[in-house]
Amino acid sequence: MRKCPVDDFTLKTETYEGVTIDSCPHCGGIWLDAGELEAVQNAQDSDFRTVTTSALDQVRAAEDMGKAAQEGPRHCVECQTELVKKEYAYTSQVMIDQCPNGHGLWLDQGEMSRLEMFFETQEDMSKILADMETEGQGFGALLSRLWKRSKG
Ligand SMILES: [Zn+2]
Ligand SMILES: [Zn+2]
Repeated sequence: MRKCPVDDFTLKTETYEGVTIDSCPHCGGIWLDAGELEAVQNAQDSDFRTVTTSALDQVRAAEDMGKAAQEGPRHCVECQTELVKKEYAYTSQVMIDQCPNGHGLWLDQGEMSRLEMFFETQEDMSKILADMETEGQGFGALLSRLWKRSKG
């Protein structure tokens, strides 16, 4: 039985986006084995496209980053080694706790949906870049498009 790294409750196995994950019934956190986060990312439904990151979400994310710095140590559900905190990717504003031995990572409640939003933004970005290539435009055109997007 795997135990929650935060509160020691027994983790429940469930399916998310077709991927088997371990979630905590007490705090709502999620343990993902190595490679499962990528699987969730790949399994993403296109209906998530409608979700946009609001200014409020950004503020909450920043607050969580601050809180994360004060959390106690958490341990890998497999090898009990202390998890290492790091930002998932540059600008994602999602702090994840990762096993240094590569067993997997821990996401607190809400971090999964924030990561999904981040994946979505990345997808939009790569689409813009792909369009740019086919149209053969320069960096200035990209900036003007982003500017238009941000103005809604
Ligand atoms: Zn928990
Ligand atoms: Zn481990």
